[in-house]
Amino acid sequence: MNGMNSIPVVIFLGAPGAGKGTQAAYLSKHKGIPKISTGDMLRAAVQEDSPLGRKVQQIMKDGGLVDDETMLNLIKERISKPDSENGFILDGFPRTCPQAEGLEKILPPNSKVIAINIRASEDEVVKRIAGRRSCPKCGTVYNVYFHPPKVDDQCDLDGTPLFRRNDDSEEVVRRRLKTYKRETLPLIGFYKKRGGLKSINGIQSEDVVMAAVEKAMPFPSTV
Ligand code: AMP
Repeated sequence: MNGMNSIPVVIFLGAPGAGKGTQAAYLSKHKGIPKISTGDMLRAAVQEDSPLGRKVQQIMKDGGLVDDETMLNLIKERISKPDSENGFILDGFPRTCPQAEGLEKILPPNSKVIAINIRASEDEVVKRIAGRRSCPKCGTVYNVYFHPPKVDDQCDLDGTPLFRRNDDSEEVVRRRLKTYKRETLPLIGFYKKRGGLKSINGIQSEDVVMAAVEKAMPFPSTV
């Protein structure tokens, strides 16, 4: 898929909790291109207590956004790694208009951008996020309402106690949604104008959403 051919750049838009991470992980596995989640990268930096982690920790806790320059530098470095040369999937980036404009400047010239907006109502995403639990060992995500583990608070795959992200409380979720509406929602217009925007109803079972995402892809699998 390399050389003169275009490389897919899939961008997941949608509110926190709409299912971007789940769908991006699925697509990554099935298409053989990496999922790049800026939220995961920042959480890893916080975990490592790196200078970046120390800088962003409080912002993330409060449900705010990290500044555009920091985020663009992070993405620029990540997409220049060899595993991104056949395309990549962005989960949680861009989140502001300056980030979307900055991304245009650093995308490989033969990129084919496909932006997917996963739609979900505010009440639904609050419930989804407040019910979200993750396995710190293997990364599997559960939901106490929609996709509970077989044993309460334990990972089905390895039995590790599950944890709740510290920005997943209802209060912080409401704040993150406000930020989303103000900063990220305008990106729908940006990608509509640019061309290549697809919209998918996120309030359906994961499998149905996955099939719709798959259908929206104009490129074949590499695995
Ligand atoms: P997420 O896992 O995508 O919900 O991201 C968790 C948090 O990381 C967000 O609430 C922001 O504080 C921060 N973050 C992730 N991606 C970005 C981005 N593209 N721009 C600014 N902040 C971000």
